[in-house]
Amino acid sequence: MLQVEKINTFYGSSQILFDVSLEVSLGEVVGLLGRNGAGKTTTLRSIMGLTRPKRGNISYKGKDIFGKPTYKIAKMGIGYVPEDRIIFPDLSVLDNLNLASKTSSGGVNGWRIERVFDLFPVLKARAHQNGGTLSGGEQQMLTIARTLMGNPELILVDEPTEGLAPLLVNEVRKLILAIAETGTTILLSEQNIKFSLKSSKRVYIIEKGEIQYEGSVENLRENESIMKKYLAVQGYDCANQRTN
Ligand code: ATP
Repeated sequence: MLQVEKINTFYGSSQILFDVSLEVSLGEVVGLLGRNGAGKTTTLRSIMGLTRPKRGNISYKGKDIFGKPTYKIAKMGIGYVPEDRIIFPDLSVLDNLNLASKTSSGGVNGWRIERVFDLFPVLKARAHQNGGTLSGGEQQMLTIARTLMGNPELILVDEPTEGLAPLLVNEVRKLILAIAETGTTILLSEQNIKFSLKSSKRVYIIEKGEIQYEGSVENLRENESIMKKYLAVQGYDCANQRTN
């Protein structure tokens, strides 16, 4: 569904991504794992056309999207959930969602307010509350819900657990899995390894702008040395993860 081939992205004269390649197939949840500053956000921004790579190829459903403007990429069915939770703080939850549906590409998933509220009962309860008054976790949910209202077939989710309390991390994980069950394909950037291993089937590890590992979650769990080398795994209990 999504094919990224050897993209090289720069901020000014400093090169951030070095020949990054990855693939996401229809219906998959794929993790993009890496420490702070590894290049996860830059990879997602490059796919969305927000930061244009200098070299490489990106195709979506067989069509070249490299160098296309972001609104065209979004119209083709790719949704982006940025790390910094972009919502309209002075609009109600309902208005935030209605506004997002106006820019919908009319994709195949048929997301409407009622269906979004079924998936996000917390947002339904706060429908008439201003977005800015929601808690961090609720704002994260609203950001994800807004993206769904655009009816994407693939969503790029950037560190959804950033700054959330452990209980909410679990809620967001359930939500991601529920969204995947609707048939939406997901590329999930994370530095929370536990979250990523529980949410994805296949992962890429990025370090200093280069993909260092690609494989199934099962293989990665068996490969403690790779996790220690490239990820912040302090206190991570590999043996326990295996039995979970
Ligand atoms: P984080 O978890 O901290 O968001 P990340 O893996 O998403 O990390 P990126 O945000 O892609 O990493 O950043 C990769 C590198 O690019 C970092 O060294 C960062 O300092 C640098 N960088 C990011 N944005 C810019 C920018 N606008 N201008 C210059 N350098 C940038």
